[in-house]
Amino acid sequence: MTTSTAPRDTIVRVRGIHKRFGSLKILNGVSLSVGRGEVVCVLGPSGSGKSTLLRCINHLEKVDDGLVVVGDHTIGYEESGGVLRELSERRVCRQRTSVGMVFQRFNLFSHMTVLENVVEAPVRVHRRKRGTVEREAVELLRRVGLAEKKDAYPDQLSGGQQQRVAIARTLAMKPDVVLFDEPTSALDPELVGEVLSVMRGLAEDGLTMIVVTHEIGFAREVADRVVFMDGGVVVEEGAPAAVLDTPREERTKAFLSHVL
Ligand code: ADP
Ligand code: MG
Repeated sequence: MTTSTAPRDTIVRVRGIHKRFGSLKILNGVSLSVGRGEVVCVLGPSGSGKSTLLRCINHLEKVDDGLVVVGDHTIGYEESGGVLRELSERRVCRQRTSVGMVFQRFNLFSHMTVLENVVEAPVRVHRRKRGTVEREAVELLRRVGLAEKKDAYPDQLSGGQQQRVAIARTLAMKPDVVLFDEPTSALDPELVGEVLSVMRGLAEDGLTMIVVTHEIGFAREVADRVVFMDGGVVVEEGAPAAVLDTPREERTKAFLSHVL
């Protein structure tokens, strides 16, 4: 949580994005700016478009209208002579490495050790030296509390440990922002705390994060800002205490009365 009121660099700018699947409108003009080091928690009922928003931010879904800018890059496009041109899939993939994503399902490579899982992408995608990346990976595993598991295979780990490896794997790419999509929803209840505690540590270390979660306690304690979505729009946003304790909008009140 930040105590500074100084303006900070904006890392993510989502400007009026629209997304439809067939005739179904899923996002109806969503805008969101996230500053460097800021932690934004996105809440909202199932089907409100939260996952679609995250998937649009890293261009796993292409927006129908609007723009997503991460750092200096318009995701999926390049500007030349004042005109936006769509990038090739290859170049989008490269751009996408600046946006880390942690999913509900961690999808580690089962035939690779924990360390190999973390080292794989920086070596293969960024073509960095394996030795350097391995040293960084060990440090990242220490940060998520799993240094002693570096030679284990994913199926030897609990779900909470696997998710922590998935977080280390994402951080190994040195993303500008990490998007978390309900990172604890697939976990047994007793394993949720260890993952949230790692995420809290990352927030304290200044990682820029957008976290879709139903963990209201986490949002309250860790988020700088809470965004409430419903029906493909941002209904309300603000400081956690304001949105969670004194929501202005009826839809926010209704949602919170079900989850609190
Ligand atoms: P949330 O994450 O808030 O639960 P989603 O963004 O996953 O919501 O989904 C919003 C709506 O979009 C849902 O009704 C879902 O069925 C629909 N949807 C999501 N992805 C697709 C897709 N690839 N094709 C068709 N409909 C989709
Ligand atoms: Mg979702």
